[in-house]
Amino acid sequence: MKTVIILGGGGFIGGHLAKRLKSEGCHVRIADIKNHEFWKHEEICHEFIKCDLTQPKAVELVISESADEVYQLAADMGGAGYIFTGENDANVMHSSALINLNVAHECVKKNVKKIFYSSSACMYPEHNQLDPENPNCIESSAYPANPDSEYGWEKLFSERLYFAFNRNYNLDVRVARFHNIFGPQGTWDGGKEKAPAAMLRKASETKEGDGIEVWGDGKQTRSFLYVDECVEAVLRLMKSDFVGPVNIGSEEKISINGLAQMAIDISNKNIHINNLEGQDFVDKYGFSCPVGVRGRNSDNKLYKEKVGWEVNRPLLEGMKKTYEWINSQVILRDKL
Ligand code: NAD
Repeated sequence: MKTVIILGGGGFIGGHLAKRLKSEGCHVRIADIKNHEFWKHEEICHEFIKCDLTQPKAVELVISESADEVYQLAADMGGAGYIFTGENDANVMHSSALINLNVAHECVKKNVKKIFYSSSACMYPEHNQLDPENPNCIESSAYPANPDSEYGWEKLFSERLYFAFNRNYNLDVRVARFHNIFGPQGTWDGGKEKAPAAMLRKASETKEGDGIEVWGDGKQTRSFLYVDECVEAVLRLMKSDFVGPVNIGSEEKISINGLAQMAIDISNKNIHINNLEGQDFVDKYGFSCPVGVRGRNSDNKLYKEKVGWEVNRPLLEGMKKTYEWINSQVILRDKL
C-alpha cells in the first residue's frame, strides 16, 4: 500500500486530493492546522494529524521515514480580499515560507521518495498581465520576476527552494503553478473565498430584481479550473518524469463580469451586476479595490508536451456543479 502524506489536506484542493488517493487504495495521512470544514476525517483519510506545520517538530512527526509521496499544499492563502489588500502580507510570507523550509528539509532527512509542491500563477510578473486580452503566463516568462503580491513572491521563493533541494540533495520534486482552482467543498464565504465561489454565493443569496456586487470594472480576465481536473493533472504530473515548474489551469479565459453573468444565468434569476470600484469602493470597505492583474490565463503547452494529457471540461459544467453545492450551503445556513 502506497503511503501518501497530504500537508494542507484539511483545505479545499488537499481534501479533494486526499479523497481521490484514498479511493485508489493509498494509505492517506493528512496534516493541517484545522479540520476539513465539509468532510469527516474517515471520508478522506486514514490518519489526520492536527498541527501547525510552521513548527519543525510538527513536520518531524508528520513526515515518516521513506514515505512514498508527500503533497505540500499547506499555505496561508485566500481570495483577492485576503491576498491583495496588504493586510495579511507578513503572515502570508512568514507562515508559508516556514512550512516550506521545514518540509523540504524533513523530506530529505527522511528519504521521501517524491514530493509535489503547489505554486501559483500569482508568481508571474505583473508587466505580462496588463492586457486583459493577451496575458502571457508561459512558464519561461517568470523571470525577471515581478509578482504583484507578497503571496506570489513567497511562491517563487519556495519553488526555488524545492528546486535547490532537488539539485543539491536529489529530492525528487514536482512543481505546478495552479491557476484559480474552484469547485464544491471549498471556502464559499467569510472573505477567503475566490471569485467563482463568491459569484455563485451572491447569485444564490440575491433576490430577483436586485444586483450582485462585482469588484472592479469586471473587465479583468481569468481562467478557472474545476478541482477534479486539477487533481487529475497533479496525479499525472507526479507519475511523469517532468520536474516542472508547469502550469495547471484552464485556457478558457473569461472576464470577471462574464463569470458573474454565468453565475446569474445558472441561478436562473433576474439579477443585474453592480461593478464597484475607485472611491466608491474605498468609501464602502476602507481600502482600495483588490482586483489583482488585468489579465491572466493558463498556458498549457508545456504540460501537454511533458505529461501528454490536457484538461478539457468546459467552465460552465464545473460552475453548475459548484452552484448546486453552494446553494445547498446557503439554504443550510439560512435555516440555522
Ligand atoms: P486552502 O486554504 O483551502 O488549503 C490550504 C490549507 O493549508 C488549509 O487547510 C490551511 O488550514 C492549511 N494551513 C495553513 N497554514 C497551516 C499551518 N501553519 N499548518 C498546517 N496547515 C496549515 O487552499 P487551497 O485552495 O486548497 O490551496 C492549496 C494550495 O494550492 C495552496 O498552497 C495554494 O497556495 C495553492 N494554490 C491554490 C489556488 C486555488 O485557486 N485554490 C491557486 C494557486 C495556488
